[in-house]
Amino acid sequence: ASAFESIQMAPTDPLFGLMAAFRADSSDKKVDLGIGAYRDDNAKPWILPVVKKADEIVRNDPANNNEYLPIAGLASLTSAAAKLVLGGDSSALKEKRVASFQTISGTGACHLGALFFAKFNQRSKTIYVSNPTWANHHQIFQNVGLSIAQYPYFARESCGLDWDGMTSSLRNAEPNSIILLHACAHNPTGVDPTQDQWKEIAAIMKERSLFPFFDVAYQGFASGDLAKDAWAIQYFVEQGFELCIAESFAKNFGLYGQRAGCFHYVAAPSPAAEDLTKRVASQLAILTRSEISNPPIYGAKIAATVLNDPALFEEWKQDLGVMSGRIIAMRKALYEKLVELKTPGTWDHITSQIGMFSFTGLSETQVLKIREEFHIYMTKNGRISMAGLNTKNVDYVAHAFDKIVR
Ligand code: PMP
Repeated sequence: ASAFESIQMAPTDPLFGLMAAFRADSSDKKVDLGIGAYRDDNAKPWILPVVKKADEIVRNDPANNNEYLPIAGLASLTSAAAKLVLGGDSSALKEKRVASFQTISGTGACHLGALFFAKFNQRSKTIYVSNPTWANHHQIFQNVGLSIAQYPYFARESCGLDWDGMTSSLRNAEPNSIILLHACAHNPTGVDPTQDQWKEIAAIMKERSLFPFFDVAYQGFASGDLAKDAWAIQYFVEQGFELCIAESFAKNFGLYGQRAGCFHYVAAPSPAAEDLTKRVASQLAILTRSEISNPPIYGAKIAATVLNDPALFEEWKQDLGVMSGRIIAMRKALYEKLVELKTPGTWDHITSQIGMFSFTGLSETQVLKIREEFHIYMTKNGRISMAGLNTKNVDYVAHAFDKIVR
């Protein structure tokens, strides 16, 4: 008998299952609104022009080789990544109270943070995530033995933020609990707090001694403006929080499969902060060494090349503008078509939500029906990826929505 005789069949990953079903569909009308990756107006993956350039530079660099990176990763990436998310003149950076580690994209950054909390946070083993959140958060934190609690986030009636639910949950959270916050372009809802709301969230978290863990997977991709998309994080740092950040370069560089990302620990300002940060970094090094030894090199070099070259950095901002601009245009097109068709219900949330995803408000029954009848694929919770819409299919999708909700 096998050592694993009693092993149970695990469910297939819902998103990857959806992708397989889409591929198997032979209809020429099919539309993929499940995929969490940017697509151009021809529904094709897009290599950012600046990434193509950086790729050439890296490939042709005579010093290029496939040696191991240091345990903490490519220093030119981690330092630029910290500046990108914290701001170039961040007091935390000046005061040397930031420890940065290159990770296996945003997932690896969330995982390294999870492991770090599980091993070294003596005050709490509970992490609050938004309800709903990126489904993978649940297993990432549970896998290392943290317990998950949820704060309400999405208001079904308005398809907007459940402000009262969220704030009262934070007010009642056990002090020192870890609170996972999406820095911008909340996945899956596309609903972000306003800057005033972030200020209030920070005030409550300070009062209740809650620990912020920011997940930033869409910086620059959401609004097109890098600083704006990192505003909440920079505000929390200014407020003197000790916090952690999981940063992904998958979406904003289109480097999905290269797995480039960073984890940052930021100590609260204090005379002992620099020493504490060094001790934290020494333990993060052991965790990293035992799990991946050292992170992958190629995508890191591409991102670092762009982040450290002022001209390429400017080009990157233009590419971010192309992606975020196309997504915003598709939101508008879908909204306008639904209004034109006088589709029952309100659809303002389609344009007020931000980033790659939108929570349409479609029920699970409607989601299954639209898949069956129109070959339009989205996750069961009614989330659509705006990147799957283009000028050729947006009218078709709007008509399908219209038929399904009537
Ligand atoms: N966090 C959130 C909220 C995400 O949406 C994603 C991407 N789907 C990630 C983290 C991490 O993705 P990756 O590991 O590809 O960087």
